[in-house]
Amino acid sequence: MWRGILHHYKKLLPPIEDRYIVTLLEGNTPLIPALRLVQYLKIDVKLYLKYEGLNPTGSFKDRGMTFAVSKALESGHRAILCASTGNTSASAAAYAAKAGIEAFVVIPQGKIARGKLCQAMIHGAKVVQIRGGFDEALKIVRKIVEDHPMVLVNSINPFRLEGQKTAAFEICDALGDAPDYHFIPVGNAGNITAYWRGYQEYQKLKKVTRSPKMHGYEAEGAAPIVKGHPIIDPQTVASAIRIGNPASWKAAETARDESKGVIDSVTDSEILEAYRWLANLEGVFCEPASAASVAGFVKCCKKKIFRGEETVVCTLTGHGLKDPDTAIQNSPEPVTVDAELEAVLKVLKL
Ligand SMILES: *Cc1c(COP(=O)(O)O)cnc(C)c1O
Repeated sequence: MWRGILHHYKKLLPPIEDRYIVTLLEGNTPLIPALRLVQYLKIDVKLYLKYEGLNPTGSFKDRGMTFAVSKALESGHRAILCASTGNTSASAAAYAAKAGIEAFVVIPQGKIARGKLCQAMIHGAKVVQIRGGFDEALKIVRKIVEDHPMVLVNSINPFRLEGQKTAAFEICDALGDAPDYHFIPVGNAGNITAYWRGYQEYQKLKKVTRSPKMHGYEAEGAAPIVKGHPIIDPQTVASAIRIGNPASWKAAETARDESKGVIDSVTDSEILEAYRWLANLEGVFCEPASAASVAGFVKCCKKKIFRGEETVVCTLTGHGLKDPDTAIQNSPEPVTVDAELEAVLKVLKL
């Protein structure tokens, strides 16, 4: 039986006593071959989708949250706190509920996808919306923990990245070696940092023979690392990566440089195109931010960087149901007719 990442990868993670482990059995997500997409793009690579939307709360954040919340319990804390573009708050709320402790969440008002907001609410977190963006929310929570006995569970919490690196372990375990390339969305830049750490640790342990080139993608309207300076009012349809001053900026650049990879940006229309292709060609529904990895892959296909036969993994960070509004806005609206066979046949052009 799968028992969650902390049990499964115990020997490769900082120690935690079993009795403190809070798990919703996160991890063990599928690595899906994307055969129709590569056929459509006429590109000769072995493409896989690491579908992190199938974690318990619908995003990769659960891998880090299980560890951060377990460690909070171990240190005797009874409350956790985070700023969030949505998925961190959803995950924090669920793991706090499982642990029987309080979760406090600070989010940018009106900029959280509906599925994520409703998760934080139904799991019983105390939610505050601010008139401002994620970067301001993060500043506020960093101040709060200075004077209050609660644990900050944003990705600056070191156990978040330790938990998240297990996704790289799973990919290597599934493929039998590391891929040649890894494509991933970049927001606060914790996840690209965590994957790189995971790949490097596996290589040091000789569980794999190499590490992939890390390709990170910011959204064009929220691309501080690409532009080389913080963005004051970041804008993108990909709300999970609407971040103007990433906490793990330097570490992400290190991952890029050590792996001989790149951090680049993709436009909202490139993101939405990849988002629809994944849904239509692969039957995989991810949220817009997740599709930034595949949009980056498509951009690289156009630049002809692949020679053929390479193994490529794209991380799909969150589930499409998180953001139903964007899905509806980017699909044809269903036609309504009277409840008559003829009328239905006519609309279906049958
Ligand atoms: C958090 C998140 C990201 C960004 O990850 P970082 O570690 O902040 O770079 C991307 N996609 C989704 C769906 C997320 O929830």
